[in-house]
Amino acid sequence: MTEENVIKIPIDMSGTPLPEPEGCKHNERTLAECSITYLDDLHRYVLEVRAHCETCGRRFRFEKLPVAISVTQPCVDVHGYTVSLPIVPGEHREITDGLLASLRDDS
Ligand SMILES: [Zn+2]
Repeated sequence: MTEENVIKIPIDMSGTPLPEPEGCKHNERTLAECSITYLDDLHRYVLEVRAHCETCGRRFRFEKLPVAISVTQPCVDVHGYTVSLPIVPGEHREITDGLLASLRDDS
């Protein structure tokens, strides 16, 4: 792989740490649940994801996503506990120069 074929993906770790939780640290047994809904009228798929701590039952809230109901953009419900992600049936895509160029254009 040549230098020009290397895609650099930015990693943002600039957020300040969350305060130390009291009691359960929600880090021993966590579970994510998901479901896929197919909307016949729109011919679209939506993946819904929820997560919680199995130890104490506390739900995880998704942050930094718009509160909305949408089948075309990632969003969360009004409480922030369910994220909805538009998905499409995928096919394996080969890494081609065209794909690399399009990924560079998106940055
Ligand atoms: Zn917990």
